[in-house]
Amino acid sequence: MTSQQNLRHGSCLCGKIQFDIREDSIIDVVNCYCRMCSKASGSFSIIWGCIDNNSIYYSNVSHLSTFFSSRNVKRSFCNYCGSNVLWQSIFTKNITWFAVKLLDTELKQAPRNIFKFDC
Ligand SMILES: [Zn+2]
Ligand SMILES: [Zn+2]
Repeated sequence: MTSQQNLRHGSCLCGKIQFDIREDSIIDVVNCYCRMCSKASGSFSIIWGCIDNNSIYYSNVSHLSTFFSSRNVKRSFCNYCGSNVLWQSIFTKNITWFAVKLLDTELKQAPRNIFKFDC
């Protein structure tokens, strides 16, 4: 059952991309230090939340651009402000990894650190 309290709202830096996730549907939360996430962010890491595609709701995707950052992974970002929004593996197409820090409020679940992760 979905309650309003269970929904978390997120947006990119400029606000053109808006989304909601169901917190109780989060499968995993990782702080990824892989080389690709460092390149994508220009920082040490990105915190990703893993969620079923059916538990993330976009209210505006017209500014979401997608590219293959490797053979098996496609990343999506705001094509206006450049925020990393999500990535998906071609092997798990029903799963989305969304950028946790785009949420307006903190998740209950703390991230676990990942150092060798192909994303
Ligand atoms: Zn944006
Ligand atoms: Zn990574």
